[in-house]
Amino acid sequence: MKFARYSINGRSPKIGLVTENQLIDLSNVVPSMQALIALSADGLAMVQQHAASSQSIPLADVKLHAPLLPRRNVMCLGLNYAEHVRESLTAQGQTVDLPQFPVVFTKATTAVSGPTDPIPYDPQVSESMDFEVELAVIIGKQGKNIPVEQAMEYVFGYTVLNDITARDLQRQGKQFFKGKSLDGSCPIGPWIVSRDALPHPHDLNIRCLVNDVEKQSSNTRHMIFDIPATIAYLSRGMTLLPGDIIATGTPDGVGFARTPPEFLRPGDVVHSIVEGIGEMKNVVTAV
Ligand code: MG
Repeated sequence: MKFARYSINGRSPKIGLVTENQLIDLSNVVPSMQALIALSADGLAMVQQHAASSQSIPLADVKLHAPLLPRRNVMCLGLNYAEHVRESLTAQGQTVDLPQFPVVFTKATTAVSGPTDPIPYDPQVSESMDFEVELAVIIGKQGKNIPVEQAMEYVFGYTVLNDITARDLQRQGKQFFKGKSLDGSCPIGPWIVSRDALPHPHDLNIRCLVNDVEKQSSNTRHMIFDIPATIAYLSRGMTLLPGDIIATGTPDGVGFARTPPEFLRPGDVVHSIVEGIGEMKNVVTAV
């Protein structure tokens, strides 16, 4: 199943079930995506039953919003694709060593935006805005010290995420947080695909296009720490909560590591695509 947050004519966002090019309103069944994620298997079956007897709306008639507004920071893996490790460390004149443990940082909740929202560009803040398409995992139930073998049971579903990064701010301090957390720098969407509907999350083509030119193209099979390893690592001594978002890292092709480096400029159109989920289109917009 694909679950979206949508609105019509600027009204407040509701939850919907996406089928092909249609959307079925679920607002009579669940008030929020957080509530939907908390449903049991029986609850989800009820949602499906309701949808089967409900009228649908053409997807083209709705605005899609970020499918989930997380309660706490988005957790992100850095340097989780070997080719991206190589390009990043080489571009910074460092020796290329693959990480022994996941590199974890977070993005502020206020950075989260929708699949068609603008990516704000303010040259007073940063002139080195970069793109990083990623597969994001949505946690479905609370857990701590989750064994690798059971980790997938904690996944509710998946969405596409672009970890837009102000490279200068990322490098100024020793923490990534500031450069990763500008408003609108975490578009997610276009919807959440439930775990059962995406049975091979480690074999998905993942791409980012800027102005229709392919900049990143890889496959999730190249992750260094896969989804179970990441969940097991993050949950060690630290509770994961339903609705947590985990970005699993970006493949190679990012702007700063190119020769010469390429950064986003106002008017640039960023397409973020993950096979089996869908695509987002965000336009860089001067503010
Ligand atoms: Mg990233």
